[in-house]
Amino acid sequence: MASREDNEGYELNPQSGTLLATSDVAALSGVLEGSETETPTAPSPGKSAEKEKAQKKRIQKMRARLIKRADRMAEELGWTRLQFLANAGCSGDATVPDKHLEDFLLSCVSYFDWLEKMTDQLDLVFDQRLVVLGFTELYNDSGRKLYLCKEAMEGEVALGAQGSMPAVVPPTAMQLLELGEVIEAFQVARGHLSTPAGLRTKAVLFDDPLYALSPHIDEQRVALASSDPELLGGRVAERILEHVASCPICGEFDDSLDVEQA
Ligand SMILES: [Zn+2]
Repeated sequence: MASREDNEGYELNPQSGTLLATSDVAALSGVLEGSETETPTAPSPGKSAEKEKAQKKRIQKMRARLIKRADRMAEELGWTRLQFLANAGCSGDATVPDKHLEDFLLSCVSYFDWLEKMTDQLDLVFDQRLVVLGFTELYNDSGRKLYLCKEAMEGEVALGAQGSMPAVVPPTAMQLLELGEVIEAFQVARGHLSTPAGLRTKAVLFDDPLYALSPHIDEQRVALASSDPELLGGRVAERILEHVASCPICGEFDDSLDVEQA
């Protein structure tokens, strides 16, 4: 069986299990905006007209559902559909060959699932927009490979040589995102990629011995979480307070601020 590394430029579609040229993902905007008229295609050998008809129907349905979903996400974010697709990295000049269209649309569903899984964690439209832009950049940096982005968001941070430093496992990118530290979250995610940008991030961030000891949440945001939670979003503020109460690093930092202010 081919390993992931062998599939350069391709991505495994989790639903269909087939491989898909990742560059195609750029073309969602074209596929959704494209004309509904059917392009004449040569009959594929070994495929009955019935099967082709059924597939076309499935594609039409999927396309309609994706348009609805893009419109809903765009509305929630205060963007037009075109703005949303452009910001989500779904516009481009690539065309999708008919034979790949179904797999392509399925991979777009997975991509949207992921985007929504992340934006749903945040209460403020401002933060949700940052997530879309940050994830698109990460996706592009990863060579447009969704599985690498998922690993980067959820992977545990591998610290550099820390000597006898106290071992507190830093939050994953996803955990930082849930705390509303969106920019920091994507920086940490990028540090998981073995691209030049990823290796650079890893060198300046994870390999810095101080990283393991740095608080995970901006001090102003910790203060706001108790004084004015709605400015951060109620759920995010609640998570911040929970984190500070249980994290030895952020808790200690918070206590030292109290002493300074007293
Ligand atoms: Zn912490």
